[in-house]
Amino acid sequence: MYQTKTMKLEMMECPQCGNPMPVKRRELGYHVCVKCSTVLAKRGIPVMRGTGDHTWVDLEVMTQEQFERFEEMENKTKSEITPLREEDNNLQGPFTIKETEK
Ligand SMILES: [Zn+2]
Repeated sequence: MYQTKTMKLEMMECPQCGNPMPVKRRELGYHVCVKCSTVLAKRGIPVMRGTGDHTWVDLEVMTQEQFERFEEMENKTKSEITPLREEDNNLQGPFTIKETEK
């Protein structure tokens, strides 16, 4: 006979954000949910500051959340500047060509 074991994860409210988190997690020594503990992790990214000859690299310390938003922005900016057009090679149109009038 098979015995179906349902592992039911006991949940509790995260004291930080109120979202459900497994009680097991607290037993492991974490006091907040996964989301909160990653938010708490700080990331440092080098940021170029200044203009012309007067530039220096600064280290911007941000939370994981901010860092993800920053990365998202970076990726977006990059893809706008150098769009991956390879897959569009066979495109038969219609095209939308955006031009800024001067
Ligand atoms: Zn939380």
